[in-house]
Amino acid sequence: KQQNAQSEKVYDTQCPYCSMQCKMQLIEQKIVSRKQYKTIGKDNPTSQGRLCVKGMNAHQHALHNDRLKQPLMRINDELVPVSWETALRTIKNKFQQIQHEYGKDAISVYGSASITNEEAYLLGKFARVALQTKYIDYNGRLCMASAATGANMTFGLDRGFTFGLNEIPNTRVMILAGTNIAECQPTIMPYFEKAKENGAYIIAVDPRETSTTKLADLHLQLKPGSDIALANGLLKIMIEKGLIDDAFIADRTEHFDLVKDYILSLNFEEIINETGISMEELYQTALVFANEPSGMIFTARGIEQQINGTETVMAFLNLLLATGKIGKPYSGYGAITGQGNGQGAREHGQKADQLPGYRSIENKADRNYIAEVWGIREKDLPKKGVSAYEMFEHINKDKIKSMFIMCSNPVISNPNTNFVKKALEKVSFLVVADLFLSETAQLADIVLPSTSYLEDEGTFTNLEGRVLLREASFPIQGKAKHDWQILCEIAKVLGKEKYFNYDSAESIFEELRVASRGGKADYYGITYDRLRRENGVLWPCPSEETPGTIRLFETKFAHEGGKARMAVVKIDTIKRKPAISSNYPLYLTTGRVMSHYLTGEQTRKSPSLAARNVEAYMEIHPDTAQKFGIELNKLVKVTSEKGWIIVRSQFSESIRKDTIFIPFHWAENQNVNRLVGEQLDPYCRMPGFKMSVATISPFHH
Ligand code: SF4
Repeated sequence: KQQNAQSEKVYDTQCPYCSMQCKMQLIEQKIVSRKQYKTIGKDNPTSQGRLCVKGMNAHQHALHNDRLKQPLMRINDELVPVSWETALRTIKNKFQQIQHEYGKDAISVYGSASITNEEAYLLGKFARVALQTKYIDYNGRLCMASAATGANMTFGLDRGFTFGLNEIPNTRVMILAGTNIAECQPTIMPYFEKAKENGAYIIAVDPRETSTTKLADLHLQLKPGSDIALANGLLKIMIEKGLIDDAFIADRTEHFDLVKDYILSLNFEEIINETGISMEELYQTALVFANEPSGMIFTARGIEQQINGTETVMAFLNLLLATGKIGKPYSGYGAITGQGNGQGAREHGQKADQLPGYRSIENKADRNYIAEVWGIREKDLPKKGVSAYEMFEHINKDKIKSMFIMCSNPVISNPNTNFVKKALEKVSFLVVADLFLSETAQLADIVLPSTSYLEDEGTFTNLEGRVLLREASFPIQGKAKHDWQILCEIAKVLGKEKYFNYDSAESIFEELRVASRGGKADYYGITYDRLRRENGVLWPCPSEETPGTIRLFETKFAHEGGKARMAVVKIDTIKRKPAISSNYPLYLTTGRVMSHYLTGEQTRKSPSLAARNVEAYMEIHPDTAQKFGIELNKLVKVTSEKGWIIVRSQFSESIRKDTIFIPFHWAENQNVNRLVGEQLDPYCRMPGFKMSVATISPFHH
């Protein structure tokens, strides 16, 4: 909403970055003929007026001069400004020609977890109805896929938190497994600090010491990739010491006997050897977690971005189920989603295997339902496609000839990015819609300018599962268009206008509600009016009369029969990880820094944020540095089987001596994802960003 003060305007908005989705206000002050801007927090039930440094400076990228303001088209190998008419006509001609020559599946669609629910929904419909291709997936596959799959396999449902944020301060014990919330979702920290003040015992699981592990009472600084061994070791102690909740296990779960047989067959020597965690620390963790009356387990990318990430999540969920700490007050599972709409964007059908409302593209009843909502025949609905990284492999195999990418920068975010870049250079027609001429957009044949968070209205679902409405009123920059408008206009030139007849984000949401009705992520009872009145509603919310669901699984889980499914998670899944060797003697792990978001496409444009971390760096123990002849603050060449990069050294006494850490927000020769292998988790197709092996040497110009 815009209120005119004498020389001041206030725009209510919502942070475009992480999954906290903090509410905020952009203040525009006019001083003589000059405008100046600042962003402040706005009170609301979740972030309560707080902002982190990213949110406070978000306007700097949205108002940046480098914003794309007109479509660009490649002519004589240069991207030159063209009209929307020319861009759309070219897209129509090329898409039709490619599909005529190579079939419908020759075009692929690559989406994002930073777009609104409405746009995520529409992108799935666009792929399946306008293009009729089976190839659609999105960057959440690189981010939250293993937590989502692990929760689905265990509980039958995936919603980030199984409880409300407000329950955190009252829990008695929590395990933070592979999450650095202090850097990644800073405004959630007061919930954890309050829990600590109230006496909660906090256990952090992380190979690195971070701002988050400093909050913990116990930091389990395990070897990278050994989380399954750790969780199984804890469960073994709980079973052997009789600390499990037999009644809960009997009433609410399946397969415990199988899990118990396997867990009791393990020996502690192997667990200690795998994890590097002492017996005392294992006992302390198991005893405290099992004995306290309430407890929570949080996971994030540290344990999820592994090639056994799904199984790793499930090993931790076994601990919750064995101790009966779910579906009751101050207890449960929290997957700390990373991207702004990491939760909502995985619910509405932009995944290769999924239709809106968490419906399955392989289930006949689900297909029939969505076909009816969309007004098409079920037999015209494409089949299941492949995951994000695999689409680039299919380009390489000549199955995909063209790609449409919305709000994503895959030449930085994917593993093995040298290969991904070559694949994108190979497609015969690449269209990218984005805010800036990103590293991916630079390879495109057509670049379409999208609106930013300040200009684009729509809903987001935060890490808790709370649907929030972001109302935008800031003027659109140049000739940029909303992502949903771009999809509608391409659909229109392709002759599919009747399926894409929307005049606002709200009109898309109205259809999304119906498409989600009766599905696992049921939004049917949520309306824009309600979101305005109630400051957000947690799904599932099947009718306008129901209040939304804060705590999940109080009486039953979402699997048929109502029971959770415990899983035997074998330690030998670890053997799939790359092992250190004389050629690659160090573990390499990757992650974020507070001032940057994802590939840095937006935050590197913000002077205040860029100044905090101007370049990538390698964190290394000084003893390891000495062994490899690395000096402080000097350039280092880091090499894996997949490539090399050059980054500056930073020493840390607190990192393991066998491990180096490099954040992933930079491009080209500083892009650590160039070093990450292409092996994928067999269940969710997540790459193993958190565990590569590498070698290092001083770099001299
Ligand atoms: Fe809030 Fe996250 Fe934005 Fe920071 S980055 S202001 S924590 S939404």
